[in-house]
Amino acid sequence: MNENLKIAVQKKGRLYEGSMSLLKECGIEVSNGNNQLRVQAGNFPLEIFFLRDDDIPEYVQDAVADIGFVGENVVAEKNKDVISLEKLGFGKCRLSLASPGNSSINSISDLNGKKIATSYPLILSLFLKEKNIQATIQEISGSVEIAPRIGLADAICDLVSSGSTLFSNELSELQTVLKSEAVLISNKNLPADKQELLDKLLFRIRSVKKAKNNKYVLLNAPNEKLDDICGLLPGMKSPTILPLAEKGWSSVHSVINESDFWNVIEQLKKNGAQGILIIPIEKMIM
Ligand code: ATP
Ligand code: ZN
Repeated sequence: MNENLKIAVQKKGRLYEGSMSLLKECGIEVSNGNNQLRVQAGNFPLEIFFLRDDDIPEYVQDAVADIGFVGENVVAEKNKDVISLEKLGFGKCRLSLASPGNSSINSISDLNGKKIATSYPLILSLFLKEKNIQATIQEISGSVEIAPRIGLADAICDLVSSGSTLFSNELSELQTVLKSEAVLISNKNLPADKQELLDKLLFRIRSVKKAKNNKYVLLNAPNEKLDDICGLLPGMKSPTILPLAEKGWSSVHSVINESDFWNVIEQLKKNGAQGILIIPIEKMIM
């Protein structure tokens, strides 16, 4: 194999750190910096292109890059012919409609006949159509949040994560139009050797993601409670049980999911578990 897989990532901005850490967690060394456009990975046949996020879908469609890390919001707005392969768990935000707190627009139906400023005209027009709202879309490329204050629009449709930008501009959120996070996108016609590299990378990404969503748990349990406790801990196959030196007690090892983590811990304690240790998992290979 002589060809590198080419990946497009954001040059700088909100997706940069997440993209670089994910590659690192996949065991791929990238010595970036120096404002380079393109860098060769140290230990994986991967070439990294640093670009503006808005250009990534088009470059991937046109096979300038084979794959890319980019926000779902950008993928939806650019509407290029690419495949979205995997959500990446970073760059989480939402595209939302918002209006000035003191305006007469208090729900999306109040947007009829109004002007909305956005950098996402395609997504917004589809949303308005679906909701049967007739409004004018004013496309602007940045600082959307100031549009109502300067009289450019009555409302906005912009990206929100914490909501602090909306708050400091005295805007209140009306409705979420789209939820977004970074995704891995791919060109539709990868040659077989590149597809093979992509499959390897995807396998690593999935292992990293799975590990992040799970924790290793160790605890001590009275033997008469083992059945109840093991019932709470399905694990990858089933929990490991080892006898403790103290009679009548065992050590139980398993994996639990982040999503119902605290719930499970409470149940474990109720069932007599003691000395509960929770340990992060680095990679999880199924
Ligand atoms: P570029 O110069 O690459 O065009 P940009 O100004 O478009 O940069 P950023 O503000 O860095 O981009 O945002 C990049 C992506 O990060 C967004 O498209 C979105 O997917 C994600 N994101 C996450 N949270 C937010 C947020 N609060 N505001 C804006 N984007 C966010
Ligand atoms: Zn951008």
